[in-house]
Parts: sequence; C-alpha cells; structure tokens
Amino acid sequence: MRYEGDIYRPPSEAYSYILQATIGCAHNKCTFCTSFKAKKFRIRPLAEVFEDLEMARRYYRHIEKIFIADGDALVCKNDYLMAILDKIKELFPECQRVSIYGRAKDILRKTEEELIALRDNGLGIIYMGVESGNPVILERIKKGETREEMIEAVRKAEGLGIPTSLTFLSGIGGRAMWRENAIDTGTIISEMEPTYASFLTVMVVPGTPLHDEMMRGEFELLRPDEVLKEAQLLLENINVKKTCIFRSNHASNYVSLKGDLPQDREAMIERLKVAQNNSSMWKDERFRML
Ligand code: SF4
Repeated sequence: MRYEGDIYRPPSEAYSYILQATIGCAHNKCTFCTSFKAKKFRIRPLAEVFEDLEMARRYYRHIEKIFIADGDALVCKNDYLMAILDKIKELFPECQRVSIYGRAKDILRKTEEELIALRDNGLGIIYMGVESGNPVILERIKKGETREEMIEAVRKAEGLGIPTSLTFLSGIGGRAMWRENAIDTGTIISEMEPTYASFLTVMVVPGTPLHDEMMRGEFELLRPDEVLKEAQLLLENINVKKTCIFRSNHASNYVSLKGDLPQDREAMIERLKVAQNNSSMWKDERFRML
C-alpha cells in the first residue's frame, strides 16, 4: 500500500492490486526505457512487503489479482517469492492469480523445481519485454539478453505450465532495420510459442539514449504506414502451432489489432494492408502514449 516512485504495470493488470516487492529494475539499461531510471534497484525487506499486504487486506474487501512489481521482481530468490505467495494465500484466499515481471535470465537462473513451486503456489503468469527477435537490435538497445536465452526461457516457463505474456516493439530497429525487426520478431514468436504476444510501437522519450541516437541521426523513426508494413511482415513470419493471443492495441499503436494466432492471422494482415493506404484509420499522434 506504500509505493515508492512511479509504478508501472501491464495494461491487463489494470484492476490488480499492485504489490511493490522490488524498487526499480535490476537491469535498468535498455536504451528506450525510462520507467525506472530514477530508482536505484533494491529488494524490499519481507517484513515491509507483508505490512503492505496486511494493509491491503484491511482496505480491500475483495482482491482477485495481484501483480508483483517493480521491473523484474522475478530476480528475487525463490524463498523470498515463496514467502510472499504464502502470505498472499493466507490473507487473500479469493485471489485467483498472481503475476510478475521477469527477464529471461531470471527464469533460466531458477531450477525447474523452483518454477514449479512458484506455479503451484499461485504464480499464474510472467510478463517479459522481449522487444525484438533480431540479435543486432537486442545488442544495440542494450537488452542484456540474447535471442537464444529468451527463447529458452519462454519455452522453459511455458513447458512447466507457467503462461508468458511478451511485449515486442515495432519500430525499434528504426528505418535501417525494420525488415530484420519484423522477420526476426516473427520467427522468435514462432519459436517461443508464448501464450500472449503484444506488439507495441516505439515512442522515443527525451532523456533516453535512444533519443540521443535519434538526435545524432543514428536512429530514424518509422512513419505510421511503415509501422503498419512492419507489423504485416511480422505477422507473415509468425507460424505457431499452439494458440497465441496476439494484441497490438496498446495506446502507442497507430491501428488497433487483436486476434488469436494462427487462426486470425490472415484477417489481421488484411486489416493492416487496408490501413497502410488509409490514414483515417491511424490514431492521431496526439493520442498515442506509452
Ligand atoms: S528490462 Fe524492462 S524495465 Fe528494465 S530497463 Fe529494460 S525495458 Fe526497462
């Protein structure tokens, strides 16, 4: 119930109680990200986290979903996370799902037994920012994780029955690498087979290294029609066997798109083709946001 700094959560956790177990992001180096720049990463003492949960119990009569923040709370040791999940069970028997932000390395660092224990104790979904499937772009944006690590991590979690919800960034390769971003992001989704994949559109925020690159002419944003062309090529390169819930309806997107893959792929591609030549379908720049 006590929060430090700005709080970020996935759009689908809009109605969840947010529990801040960590402050900031342990990585905090991605060149496009401003979320936790003002925070020095630390893990909150368990006693404080429990106090927050107890306060929330006194304040809210019914909590169905709990999201564990900040940036990559999955970095915490399993004993710590298991203690939080135990406390949630004790205080919120009505809670249906606990979710968390994680990085590939957090998943890979944990043993299968540890992940199973988290799953069996209520962890219902892991959110992860993949951003791009292209290795050069991943290096350039300082993601700190490789394509291979991210594929392995997502397959590991999904294989153990923990759904993953992944975000990817349209335009993060700039004009120079839009094709590579589209094709390699499509193929990484095919290899990962996540439960959810969200395709957002990059927005360059002043003060970020990406903004500096743009000012130096080293990074060029795509026009809206190019963003849509990139999304089309991305979809053309996704071939999943297991249903993947695909969303590109974030506040940053020019055209709202949603469907299940593979069954809705052609319909979404058609919508993108029509939208590329019809600017009245594009969201006004003034209404786009992160
Ligand atoms: S891992 Fe996520 S939260 Fe951390 S710096 Fe990168 S994009 Fe931002």
